[in-house]
Amino acid sequence: MDNLQKAFSAAAPSVIAELKKRNMEGYYFENCEEMVEKILSMLPENASVAWGGSVSFKDSGLLPALQAGNYQLIDRALAKTDEEKREIYGRSVMADAFFMSSNAITYDGRLINIDGSGNRLACLMHGPKEVYVIVGMNKFVRTVEAGIERTRNLASPANVQRLGYKTPCHETGLCAECLSPGCICSHLVVTRRSMVPGRVKVFMVAKNLGY
Ligand code: SF4
Repeated sequence: MDNLQKAFSAAAPSVIAELKKRNMEGYYFENCEEMVEKILSMLPENASVAWGGSVSFKDSGLLPALQAGNYQLIDRALAKTDEEKREIYGRSVMADAFFMSSNAITYDGRLINIDGSGNRLACLMHGPKEVYVIVGMNKFVRTVEAGIERTRNLASPANVQRLGYKTPCHETGLCAECLSPGCICSHLVVTRRSMVPGRVKVFMVAKNLGY
């Protein structure tokens, strides 16, 4: 491990303790392979599984591991029409497990997220039986304000590049508080606790994942 990873590793136990106070579970891993193995050991056979748009989820290697396992995958990328998208979204809300990342997370266990349509955040807040949040060490910040700043001026401009939307941040790389048709910042959600103990599980990896 390099020194950044060692520092993150040293902070992990207190993050896990802070998450526990908020009714959320925290897990720490040195690498994605260990994390994937742990998640597969926790997911019941034949569980229905959905996920929100997440570079961390894709980069972690979780998707191929889930595809190789005995799970019912609910993949919205397979939808060909708006009606099919709605039907798949309905099944995602009722999934046994929903996977996502977080745009930022504070060291005291608060999740900060911004969404365009809000489907990912609706599932974080309510619906799926369990929510698995994959976060690389690059997502950690000290305060909610720093998390919003990170999201607006780093994650959202990068996501707009990925999605090819025409927004001011697509041109400048910085947030202009836009209300343009392509804006992906409709909903700002700070998750400070889970009502259901253990429903939200945070998997921290000592790697940079997503943005
Ligand atoms: S410019 Fe618009 S889309 Fe880009 S980060 Fe700001 S609010 Fe979000």
